[in-house]
Amino acid sequence: MLIRDRKAYTECVKLSLRTVDLSISIDDKVIVKNVSIEAMPGEPVFLLGPNGSGKSSLLKGIMGIPSYKIVSGKVIMDSEDITGLPPWERVRRGLWIVHQLNFPLSVPTYFLLEKIAARARANVNIKAVLDALGISHLYYREAFNGFSGGEAKKLEVATALVSRPICIMLDEPDSGVDIDSLRVIAGYINLWLRDGRTIIIVTHLGAIANFIEKEGKAYVLIDGRIVYEGRLHDVIRLVLEKGYSYFKGDGN
Ligand code: ADP
Ligand code: MG
Repeated sequence: MLIRDRKAYTECVKLSLRTVDLSISIDDKVIVKNVSIEAMPGEPVFLLGPNGSGKSSLLKGIMGIPSYKIVSGKVIMDSEDITGLPPWERVRRGLWIVHQLNFPLSVPTYFLLEKIAARARANVNIKAVLDALGISHLYYREAFNGFSGGEAKKLEVATALVSRPICIMLDEPDSGVDIDSLRVIAGYINLWLRDGRTIIIVTHLGAIANFIEKEGKAYVLIDGRIVYEGRLHDVIRLVLEKGYSYFKGDGN
């Protein structure tokens, strides 16, 4: 698939994202176990679970990051099986991940974003993206180096914007950010949803959910397995009332 400028492409294409019985190992230890989830265009999917339950590993495995080895199962974008594709092939098809944690880089912010846009074959105005997120002062700074929590999350969102994604996975976009930054980030998620993008959001306590306009579906992941599924606000209420220990027993 040769896409010279993804703008026109992403504006008309809507793709679902699903995993079928997906198991992922790190250093030969299985972390994600037989996970089947499905996200449809314009309908947010939330992934909740305690620390270390495998949420980030699941997203990284879907992204194709090599150390997160898919031992069985499939990742499917719309009708295409992308399980064996390298990460940049997934990016070209419109998949992107907004990471929970990032490492300081030795390249300037604008350079990082230019590279991502080029690899994704997206023609974007980097300055305009940073302006819109209120982080234009970071243009020449080394990416993620000494950034505040909010600045780092906004740069992560900028990486998604410049890749012109169709399916976006956001790993804890609400952790470590102030309320104003949270509103800005949620604003972009709402825009993506209105545009029919496919969105998966990992959240601990569901803070971001209060700012998302569309009601979605939520899965609870415990020890690498999906143990519960329901409407987002019902699941969050249950989690806040009973804690994750409720799902570990026979509560589901
Ligand atoms: P969550 O995002 O739900 O907090 P993670 O997916 O980050 O959970 O981690 C799940 C388990 O996998 C944890 O025990 C964690 O230590 C382990 N893990 C995740 N990534 C790596 C890695 N790159 N190397 C070794 N262990 C990892
Ligand atoms: Mg995580």
